[in-house]
Amino acid sequence: MDLGISGKTALVCASSKGLGLGCAEALAAAGVNLVMNGRTSETLLAAADAVRSEFNVTVKTVACDITTADGQAEAMAAADQVDILVNNAGGPPPGLWSDWDREDFIAALDANMLTPIALMKASLPAMMDRGWGRVVNITSQSVRAPIPQLGLSNAARTGLTGYVAGTARQVAGSGVTINNLLPGIHATDRADALDGGVVAAQGITLDEARAQRAATIPARRYGTRSEFGAACAFLCSQHAGFIVGQNILMDGGGTNITM
Ligand code: NAP
Repeated sequence: MDLGISGKTALVCASSKGLGLGCAEALAAAGVNLVMNGRTSETLLAAADAVRSEFNVTVKTVACDITTADGQAEAMAAADQVDILVNNAGGPPPGLWSDWDREDFIAALDANMLTPIALMKASLPAMMDRGWGRVVNITSQSVRAPIPQLGLSNAARTGLTGYVAGTARQVAGSGVTINNLLPGIHATDRADALDGGVVAAQGITLDEARAQRAATIPARRYGTRSEFGAACAFLCSQHAGFIVGQNILMDGGGTNITM
């Protein structure tokens, strides 16, 4: 399917690995020029080179912490214009409800709520002036059903979800859509880190921890970054202009809910 977005420019935050990289690759496959981001320069440059040579699109890189005001300004400045914004950053650490202090919450809110909001505020006005724009926020299945050990993530991402629910409906009339993609478990470094906690707690191997988790998912496997990226690219396509303010689960059926 032609997504109808060839020649557009996307800022894909936290895209040197994992789900962000999957989104960057799928957008590049649709002919979208990219600004890619990550903190580790070496990983970012290698990922950008691979995307450039596979998809023949323009790829700029901004090595910075996207959760800082300076990083956000640098990333925005690298794009001549941002037609498509994919918001993403690392997830907060796991723990118990009683573990976290104010500073922990502020860090989680900065990374997973206030950063995407700042980037939306920076890019929405020009999108609205041009009468076209797409924003996809990578959140988590935890906004539908809380994950007990990820209380910081549950809190920050639900806050972002509330902001998007209201804002998406205020900008849709200008041809701009905002939607959230909610990953369940996907085979990335983040999943390895979470499974590493199970390894330590239960004294099992990483493969056993993965098999144990996969057995709890109706699809009986982890998602892939290319599946995730394809969904993101569709939400950014011309065909998705009537999808507004939605929270789309990609979890292999793992969240046991009806709607
Ligand atoms: P990942 O494999 O660990 O990749 C994270 C990417 O983000 C890397 O490219 C990393 O590069 C970059 N990054 C992290 N923090 C950054 C920052 N402050 N500024 C700029 N770049 C940053 O993680 P993932 O699995 O793709 O997860 C992406 C998001 O989805 C996370 O918020 C995660 O919590 C959420 N999520 C993931 C899953 C899953 O199963 N994978 C499930 C639910 C939710 P550098 O480290 O070099 O900066």
